Amino acid sequence: MTGLDSPTVATQTRAAGGGRHTGWPVLQLDEVTKIYPGATPVVALDKASFTIHRGELVAIVGPSGSGKSTLLQVMGTLDRPTSGTVRIVGDDVAKMSDRALAGLRATRIGFVFQQFFLAQHATALENVADGLLYSCVRQGARLAAAAEALARVGLSHRVDHRPPELSGGERQRVAIARALVGNPAIVLADEPTGNLDSVSGVAIFKLLTELNAEGTTIIMITHDRELAARLPRRIEVLDGQIVADVSSAEQPLSTERHLP
Ligand code: ADP
Repeated sequence: MTGLDSPTVATQTRAAGGGRHTGWPVLQLDEVTKIYPGATPVVALDKASFTIHRGELVAIVGPSGSGKSTLLQVMGTLDRPTSGTVRIVGDDVAKMSDRALAGLRATRIGFVFQQFFLAQHATALENVADGLLYSCVRQGARLAAAAEALARVGLSHRVDHRPPELSGGERQRVAIARALVGNPAIVLADEPTGNLDSVSGVAIFKLLTELNAEGTTIIMITHDRELAARLPRRIEVLDGQIVADVSSAEQPLSTERHLP
């Protein structure tokens, strides 16, 4: 069970993430630059470098237009940088074919988006099982893993519901379960509370911190500085550059305050 109200969530999260290096590198960016060509080329990322270790919970924060989406695309191997190196669990993605990259994405990275992106006519269980479609797991095992992932996000009682029959917060839990089902090395969450009311947003934020406490590496992209400040590590982007990379290991991590 998820146990969202567990009083130990904050402490566990600090122990797991806490800005300390808790494991081996799962994502390494070295001088990553992305230039969108055109009449006026745009330098969307300018020599961005950082390393994320297993077990971390990291916010990538910056205002609109700062390069967060571009960074998400590059970190998620959905787009290739113009120059620089991206390594996922040690593998240099520049040396991989598009097909190999699709395989790496399917097994190593779980995506959570602001808009959920669930199949509307499929049940919660089927949506989550789809997260294993490209991983050579048989259908029976896919459904069993999906049920387990839905239990982890506290949705065992909603497995047969379709997205229109679920609240926004429940839909995002389904999307998180789909991201988790393959036990990825990294979960990339793009504004995961952006489409939710404040109460549901707090619950999703707490869920992500609890999943991190259980060992999941999570990178959360947000424009919300207050939300980012509550995470153990904050990487700030401005005009495509990493302008700060701050760990707050000594600060208590509050999950009790409401989102703005
Ligand atoms: P954010 O997600 O922080 O709002 P983006 O990564 O979307 O920032 O954008 C960074 C910069 O790159 C912006 O100046 C934006 O206008 C530009 N940009 C984004 N995508 C493209 C594209 N496909 N072609 C040209 N410029 C783009």
